[in-house]
Formats: sequence, C-alpha cells, structure tokens
Amino acid sequence: MRKKRVDRPDGRYLWYYAFDEPLPPVLDLPQPARTADPLELRIDPLLGEAMVISTGRQDRTFLPPPEACPLCPSRPSAEMTTEIPSTHYEIVAFENRFPSFRSDAATVADESALFARASAAGVCEVLVYAPQHHATIASLPEAQVRRLVDVWCDRYAALASRPEVAYAFIFENRGREIGVTLTHPHGQIYGFPFVPPRPAREYARAADHAAAGGRCLHCDVVAEELAHGERIVATTQGFVAYVPFAARLPYEVHVVAAAHRASLLDLTPAERAGLAQMLQRLQSAYDALWGFPMPYTMSMHQRAADGVARAGDHLHVEFQPPYRTRAKLKYLAGIETGAGTYINDTAPEATAAELRAAAPAS
Ligand SMILES: [Zn+2]
Ligand SMILES: [Zn+2]
Ligand SMILES: [Zn+2]
Repeated sequence: MRKKRVDRPDGRYLWYYAFDEPLPPVLDLPQPARTADPLELRIDPLLGEAMVISTGRQDRTFLPPPEACPLCPSRPSAEMTTEIPSTHYEIVAFENRFPSFRSDAATVADESALFARASAAGVCEVLVYAPQHHATIASLPEAQVRRLVDVWCDRYAALASRPEVAYAFIFENRGREIGVTLTHPHGQIYGFPFVPPRPAREYARAADHAAAGGRCLHCDVVAEELAHGERIVATTQGFVAYVPFAARLPYEVHVVAAAHRASLLDLTPAERAGLAQMLQRLQSAYDALWGFPMPYTMSMHQRAADGVARAGDHLHVEFQPPYRTRAKLKYLAGIETGAGTYINDTAPEATAAELRAAAPAS
C-alpha cells in the first residue's frame, strides 16, 4: 500500500491510497473557499450528553445526478471538478466539506452553569471505497474490499493518534431511506473529541461484566451465540455475524471478531481478509433478501482513542437496516425516541434464518 497526502486550496487534506496503480497525478483545479461555519458542542443538561450544533451542514449536496457526483474522479475535459482532483484513483480519504468536528473549531464559553458548551475540535473524513460510481461493497472485487480494510486500519491509526480525538468512529450510511445524500460507495470516519454515548454504555456494561467475574463481554456473547447457533447468519475467518439476541431492529446484524481483538490494528492478515469477506457476504445477503439494495447504517465499535484500555475493547460492526418488511420502514416513534425502548415485531431467530438463506454459499 502506498499513500500520498495532498493539501487542497481550501485547507482540507486528502489522502490517496494506491495498490495496483501508481499514485495519481493531482490536477490543478480551482476550488471554492471553505466557509467557517459555526460549530460547537452543547451538553444536554438532562442527559449529560454532548450534542453537535452544526449549522453549515444544511447546504449539503442532496442526491446529485451521477454526472455531478462529487466523489467520482474529476473530468477536466468536461470542466468537472469533484472532491477528488484526479482523473483516477483507487481509494481516497479526505476531510469532509461539511464537518461536524474540525481541528480548528473555536473555543466556546458556557451560557450558564447549567447550559455548558464545549469545543467541537475533532475531524471528519470521507472515505471513498472505489472510483466506480455504481459499485457496492458486494459487487467490488474481493481484493478491493480487502484494501478498504487496510485503509480503515490506516485511517483509524491516524485519527486515533491525534491529541484532540478520543474516539475514532468508522461508519457508513447507505440508502436514501436513511437520508444518504450521495450514492457513490463511501463511508465516513469521525474523530470524536469524546467517547460517544453508545460505545460508552457498552463499556459500562462490559466493565460490570468483568467486575462480576466474566471475561470480555463481547467474547462471552460471541461464544454463547455460537453455541446457541440459531441466530448466526455467517462465519468467516476470524468473524461471526449474527442477529443479536435482543435486536432492536428486525434485520440488525452484528459482525464480531471471533477472538479477542481490541481494534482493527490487532487483526491478523487472515482476519482482515475474513472481515472483507464477511462484509461482502452480509451485503450480498441483505441485497438478495428483497431484490433491492438494503439501506443500513454500519457502525464500527472498537478501542477508544483516549489512551484508556477498557474491558469492553472488542472490535465489532453493527448493521441497522431501517426496513421491517420488504415494503415497510421501521419508523422510530414515541416509544423509541421518547421512552428509549425499541419494539421489534419479528423474532431475531426468524430474521437470522431469512438472512442465512439469502447469503451466498461460502
Ligand atoms: Zn460517483
Ligand atoms: Zn473480547
Ligand atoms: Zn457495539
């Protein structure tokens, strides 16, 4: 893997990753200046959780036609300048034009003792998986997804080493049903200035589990899912996918490192390949289930970047599709958003069997 950093005229950085081809030449293309939109954290006085107030994001590009895709290679002949100033590339990471965190975020003052603010210092990157506009993780060559895992490792290490970053969160939003504004295959990485609440709650449970004499909570859950077997969707080298025992959404799947691996950086080469295969198999199963690309959010949980080793540091990837049937979306309503309790209309054992049947033969 070779890589090259390019600093763009608007101050953002971009990393090219090359494998088969030489690193691409960078075109000298004009770029509009970046606006310094107001960005701050506000602490919810009722929950104690940080909220990002980011008003510049309202101007984001919304579902552009393929010929105007900002993640495709640039086409100087068509005077088409995209986010990537080259006519070709393999995998690219760059700072988000509409970030929720940025390294130069202003310091802010509290409104009162009760209404506290904090600086939104951090970083938001976009990671473009491939130059092909219509590709998906499932349709890409296996070698390309394997390279994506390598790039995730590199970006995770880079963001986790930044002093302002407490948690490097790799994620992907897929499908217009969950508000995705661009269809080109891509994901994101947020370098949070704090450990976000969802991983923090998992950490608290894992700490309790360890204090009660258990092993790593995730290791114990994986062992029990494997022993039970009914909710397993697929296994590959080093990874297990299952619909969790208490799935919040009907087709929720967790992809978990079978052995204790705190982060992507602890995977063996064979396990990195196993993760790539698993992501392809799971997306194939999702897309085959109803014959259309299944929308989902993908969230990768692993060791935090705040220098603290925790009992719950165990790499896993959570997929949450918003559909409950082929034609019906699961809306988060009062019971979920107001009470915080999910009601799942399907048995995890049944949806696991559906996904298992839809998965390509291994
Ligand atoms: Zn595109
Ligand atoms: Zn573990
Ligand atoms: Zn998790």
